[in-house]
Amino acid sequence: MKKNDLCPCGSGQIYRECCQRFWATQQKPNTAEQLMRSRYTAFVLQKAQYLVDTHHADFREANALQTLKKSFKNTQWLGLDVIGVEAGQATDDKGMVEFKAHFNSLGIQQVLHERSSFVKEQGQWFYTTGTLF
Ligand SMILES: [Zn+2]
Repeated sequence: MKKNDLCPCGSGQIYRECCQRFWATQQKPNTAEQLMRSRYTAFVLQKAQYLVDTHHADFREANALQTLKKSFKNTQWLGLDVIGVEAGQATDDKGMVEFKAHFNSLGIQQVLHERSSFVKEQGQWFYTTGTLF
């Protein structure tokens, strides 16, 4: 990524002012949507540790890091559309984000349409589970 490239999450902001903050500094996303977008960007940029750290420990598998790293190999992410948000604001402690993530896997273009749930604990948002459409 170049210095002034737009963030892969589709926010329209410059990457270093958007999702990069969450792994380059100790800043945490304020909203469930910000966390969701940053997790998408982490998939694009293959930041497996961030994906593990932001997935609530009660909801992830013990070998999540390895599973993620394997999944990166054949997937090219093409774009993210956030479709809807319920709660998940800075003053909430629960939220839901519905999105479509477009990707190419082994030459086939596909869409992941998911409704993700998030909780906030001690001031930090975590992804818990997702329901696929
Ligand atoms: Zn972003």
